[in-house]
Amino acid sequence: MLEVCTLGTGGTLPLADRALSSLYVRVNGRSMLIDCGEGTQVGIRKLGWGFRCIEDVLLTHFHGDHCTGLAGLLLSLEKAGKTETLHIWGPRGLKRVVEGLCVIVPPLSFPVLLHELPPEGKELESVGLQIRAFPVDHGGIPCYGYRMTLPRKPEFSPEKARALDIPVTEWKRLQEGETVRIHGRKILPEEVAGKPRKGITAVFSTDTRPCETLDRYTRDADLLILEGMYADEEKMPQALKNHHMMFREAAETARRAEAGALLLTHFSTSLEDPESHLEETRKIFDKTWTAKDGETVTLRYPREEEKAWISLC
Ligand SMILES: [Zn+2]
Ligand SMILES: [Zn+2]
Repeated sequence: MLEVCTLGTGGTLPLADRALSSLYVRVNGRSMLIDCGEGTQVGIRKLGWGFRCIEDVLLTHFHGDHCTGLAGLLLSLEKAGKTETLHIWGPRGLKRVVEGLCVIVPPLSFPVLLHELPPEGKELESVGLQIRAFPVDHGGIPCYGYRMTLPRKPEFSPEKARALDIPVTEWKRLQEGETVRIHGRKILPEEVAGKPRKGITAVFSTDTRPCETLDRYTRDADLLILEGMYADEEKMPQALKNHHMMFREAAETARRAEAGALLLTHFSTSLEDPESHLEETRKIFDKTWTAKDGETVTLRYPREEEKAWISLC
């Protein structure tokens, strides 16, 4: 099961009910954040999913609305008694940005390790997720989206287990990924693996124009969390100038990707009621929703050949 929460859904500037960009991601009690805009620590307190369990922070880019909450977050982690290492990932220049933001942070009780993102296509691992960072088009500044996959063990093959003469009492251990010993012989879980099974995939990408890499990395995902900076067509010149995406363009991306669902976030302050544009947007991609601060989405493993089960609350 993969759970995500849009802690902040504002773009550029916050509103009273819209903090700046941050997504909380939780997998089996392990947590990480994508982006850490102003208001992130308040959002985590309201959500109640905890601070100490946060293992990684992945930054999309270094515009203030995506990273100025970092200093406050580190203080909250310290107060929560964190002792384990925190990993921070981001585009090149990460060290300079984090060191600058942390001038006001006192010595911490836990180590912080900084990692510049690996080259495109190379995987990084966080909280049991296989993550690929991909470059997007946000004008002159390096900006990345993240495709996250929660892998699933292949089916268990009773036929193979019987053929290897493995007693039924040992099957459960093998199903859970353990190695067992039968009559002194080691049996690996792979030896009794059946058909591979599809995992769960979610993509988070904000602050970009539609682009080839976005299309490539959103392909067939169960959930897309994409920016909907503007909705009215008259805002198109601003979207082009500032390298942002319209509701319509995010929905077209989701349609091309044949995604399971689209959750729009990162709204301009000029966009007073994002939900009022849903009807129009759903004509392009019918499984579109607009996020609110503190909205959680749960994704469960799909049945064969289907998209993951998604519930919003
Ligand atoms: Zn932004
Ligand atoms: Zn930006």
